Amino acid sequence: MAKVKVGVNGYGTIGKRVATAVRMQDDMEVIGVTKTRPNFETLMAIEKGFDVYVPDASVEAFQKAGVKYAGTIKDLYRKVDIMVDCTPGSFGAQYKTEYAEAGVKGIFQGGEEHGLTGISFNSTANYSESWGAQFSRVVSCNTTGLLRTLFLIDKEYKIKNAYVTIVRRAADPGDSKNGPINGLEPSVKLPTHHGPDVQSIMPWLNINTMAVKASTTLMHMHTVVAELSRETTTEEVLEIFRKAPRVRLVRSKDGIKTTADIMEMARDIGRDRSDMYEIVVWEDGVKVVGNKLYYYQGVHQESDVVPENVDCIRSMCKLAEKASDSVRKTNDAMHIPNKG
Ligand code: NAD
Repeated sequence: MAKVKVGVNGYGTIGKRVATAVRMQDDMEVIGVTKTRPNFETLMAIEKGFDVYVPDASVEAFQKAGVKYAGTIKDLYRKVDIMVDCTPGSFGAQYKTEYAEAGVKGIFQGGEEHGLTGISFNSTANYSESWGAQFSRVVSCNTTGLLRTLFLIDKEYKIKNAYVTIVRRAADPGDSKNGPINGLEPSVKLPTHHGPDVQSIMPWLNINTMAVKASTTLMHMHTVVAELSRETTTEEVLEIFRKAPRVRLVRSKDGIKTTADIMEMARDIGRDRSDMYEIVVWEDGVKVVGNKLYYYQGVHQESDVVPENVDCIRSMCKLAEKASDSVRKTNDAMHIPNKG
């Protein structure tokens, strides 16, 4: 079977990872990536063997800098089946029109609203909803994290109410513009948008979210309290997390006390860019009291959505009918442990 031809629009934090992840699969290939400026990331993309395409408005800058490019974005559209749009949030509407006119499929990221596509994607919760679709949206890093655990808990226990506080990283490691660099900043517009974003995939879930920006770049941390419809035990919940795809249990008593320790573990694992694709749950921080479940989870914002983008391509391009088959294939290629 011919490989699905993929273009990646926006080779930034998410785009460069998606391009690498797609390249690792045997049923899809990267035809090209786009860059707006001939900067070091462009040169690195070329060094890694990606063909770089540019918007019309960037042609002059590339020519002036003497940086070779393979063509314009419109040339790329003619060569691909699907564009994975990893541009900063809010460019989506413009690019959706272009993809539609070019007759290619498009995946957008969590910086865009659910309304842009009307379908949002998560491998654990709703793989089949994007089956054959022209457009879909992989939800944000935080929403992906919440869905990976809450969906399975809800399936088993029917959550009556979930209360989540998100301690957000202030900036990505390569970002020197955002902050705060000192202090904690509460999101005062309440409840935060994270709950409704989870509801774009689990509309029936009563979820309440608050968020605090913290002066860290490494990961987000979620504190979750879920009121369940029946009583259970800590051990039963841990068994669910042990079997959950792309969820990794760690223990504080093994020395994983902070997100810095998780990132050190990720470096030891030795994956591309030292990424931690799994949602990391502290095993000794999971506790059930009656029908109330408490836990903490860490989210590596730069990478948890990356395997989801690969699965979303498979669903939209009808490459694997069952979510579990796609997840297994993606995981194998990206060195993410499969369970069961
Ligand atoms: P980024 O700023 O790191 O990268 C965006 C890339 O798009 C850059 O290379 C930029 O040059 C390029 N770009 C800018 N304008 C463009 C245009 N008009 N046409 C083509 N390319 C253009 O952003 P990011 O963090 O990778 O975020 C991309 C999307 O992924 C957003 O929707 C964001 O909300 C979402 N997301 C980000 C994270 C994260 O933590 N960084 C996590 C999950 C989802």
